[in-house]
Amino acid sequence: MRYGDLVLLRDTKGRKYLFRLVEGGVFSHHKGSVKHADILQARYGGCVYTNQEERLTVHKPTLEEYVLLMKRAATVTYPKDAAAMIMFLDLEPASRVLEAGSGSGGLTLFLARAVGPEGEVWSYEARGAFSKRARKNVEAWGVENVRFEVGDLAKAELPEAYFDGVALDLMEPWKVLDAVTPALKPDRALVAYLPNITQVVQLIQTIHEGGYPYLVERVIEVGHREWDVRPPVAHPKFQQVGHTAFLTVLRRLQG
Ligand code: SAM
Repeated sequence: MRYGDLVLLRDTKGRKYLFRLVEGGVFSHHKGSVKHADILQARYGGCVYTNQEERLTVHKPTLEEYVLLMKRAATVTYPKDAAAMIMFLDLEPASRVLEAGSGSGGLTLFLARAVGPEGEVWSYEARGAFSKRARKNVEAWGVENVRFEVGDLAKAELPEAYFDGVALDLMEPWKVLDAVTPALKPDRALVAYLPNITQVVQLIQTIHEGGYPYLVERVIEVGHREWDVRPPVAHPKFQQVGHTAFLTVLRRLQG
């Protein structure tokens, strides 16, 4: 751990704070402040106290924490869904994956980790400013295997049967099927992340009516239910992450 590293502090109420350590820096909390030098000395897994005796534990942010706390351009793919998408895409080190839209780079980071430094993520984003934000977030995490492209994925010229998976988090995925289908290797998956079931219906209807070569493998919601366990009390948390999105898993057929 050194100056320049990302750090995550957690207070006694479980609130999390993400920032980078800088020489001479001071972290301010509503219950006092603490010097970055003291955080550095405590190291990851240690704890520090503010000048008003608030205890803060010191952590190396996980990718989930980073994605939820990093600066956003667009709403990120929720990490529980990103993890499930990687499973359905069956990604592994050295896989090549196509993604759109980059948004804030949340899903990009999970994909990049899954395929590793030998793999490739091609990330398309229609809006230049969003692509810039995604690139910044991805670079700040130290990832280098992402190729960012600014433009509409529907108009992209892509290499034939090149990708091991396609991950879509955009409003109208049916509009990009013509561009992405030939680029996806046969028998590999396309997963669409869609907040509304009406979007899922439209996607599947377009596939049937347009004769696109896909098996509709499943439409699924990923539910997480968190519990508050403080013996002797234990119950589901009163505030939960509710609905995020539906995942539609399509498998490309020959033809
Ligand atoms: N998955 C991203 C993340 O985790 O940060 C968030 C994606 S955001 C919800 C959807 C993005 O898709 C928007 O930034 C939008 O500009 C982009 N988009 C929509 N249609 C697109 C298209 N046809 N080609 C490229 N990008 C598109």
